[in-house]
Amino acid sequence: MNAFEYANPSTKEQAVQLLGSEWGETEVLAGGTDLLSLMKVFGTTPKRLVNIKDIEEFQGIDYISNSGLRLGSTSVLAKLIEHPIVQKNYRSLVQAAEGVRSSQIQSFGTVGGDLCQRPRCWYFRNGLGYFPKDDEGHDLIRDGENQYHAILGNSGTACFVSASSLAPALIALEANFRIFGNQGWREIPAEQFFTTPTQTTQRETILEPNDILGEILLPYATNTLNATYEVREKEALDWPLVTASVALKIKEGKIEHVRLVLGHVAPTPWRCIQAETNLVGKVIDEDSAKEAGKIALNDATPLSKNSYKVNLAQVAIKRAILDASLGGL
Ligand SMILES: Cc1cc2nc3c(=O)[nH]c(=O)nc-3n(C[C@H](O)[C@H](O)[C@H](O)COP(=O)(O)OP(=O)(O)OC[C@H]3O[C@@H](n4cnc5c(N)ncnc54)[C@H](O)[C@@H]3O)c2cc1C
Repeated sequence: MNAFEYANPSTKEQAVQLLGSEWGETEVLAGGTDLLSLMKVFGTTPKRLVNIKDIEEFQGIDYISNSGLRLGSTSVLAKLIEHPIVQKNYRSLVQAAEGVRSSQIQSFGTVGGDLCQRPRCWYFRNGLGYFPKDDEGHDLIRDGENQYHAILGNSGTACFVSASSLAPALIALEANFRIFGNQGWREIPAEQFFTTPTQTTQRETILEPNDILGEILLPYATNTLNATYEVREKEALDWPLVTASVALKIKEGKIEHVRLVLGHVAPTPWRCIQAETNLVGKVIDEDSAKEAGKIALNDATPLSKNSYKVNLAQVAIKRAILDASLGGL
């Protein structure tokens, strides 16, 4: 790892001043569980790290009844998992955070860090960037080891998958993200936070190099059934092959409103809008849940070695919907 300067600001204004305007010049440091491993393989070589964990406004988990939940971006996953209101009303978030192994990562890894973590693509982690090519210009992902890559949203040059397990749950629950930057605070729907880079100089979110994801706001959710279902290759330290998160409201026994989001299948979390539309007005049962999975994957474009993920995603959707329906409303 290259030597770097360590800055420990106590206010958000100081933190933003300490961040550079070019990606890679400086990096935001939260728990360091992702950033430091990337620095060790020279995946990023910042001259300065800016620790944000001492900034009070980015800390804590607060619930205001009839209003909603506020997650400070530096709250660690363990605190999210053990929070009684989160357990009761936002169980899809708990299910997603519990999937992050191990307890050491849950104790150090933060909510903001999970959402901003860099791709796990093995070409990317080996220093070949988003769009790896061999000496003759062949695409190393399309022609290579793409078993863990995207099956949706991969028509451009990026084929890695969004690594965050929390992101699908937050998008399904209609969270908003509050970002602090040079111009102060701005707020956007969670769904608009993630982008697919088309150039090596870009990143996977709409953050500017001197922006900080400060807090996440979730609407009141006592009448929302929600669940996350992950399919994993192994229970140990690893990311899911596929995640499905769902949040829905029921009226007179039928689905009135639903959000369905897949993770780990595309360069961004993937909202399944056609499947959502089709679910409205339906009773939740095995057939409607299965049909949602089928519709959601209609447009899948698997690569040479990952068509198995299509079936996994269909099953994850079905099980997430059926699991949400057990939520007890
Ligand atoms: C063995 C292992 C298994 C894992 N399994 C899973 C899994 O199943 N699902 C899953 O989702 N994740 C998984 N993770 C990832 C884990 O959730 C992240 O490493 C962790 O949440 C990152 O948080 P952090 O606070 O350590 O972030 P850091 O490592 O400090 O930062 C990560 C990145 O985000 C940026 N960043 C951090 N916070 C902010 C902020 N507030 N604003 C702007 N930028 C910010 C940093 O600059 C850096 O680029 C796993 C990690 C490991 C090591």
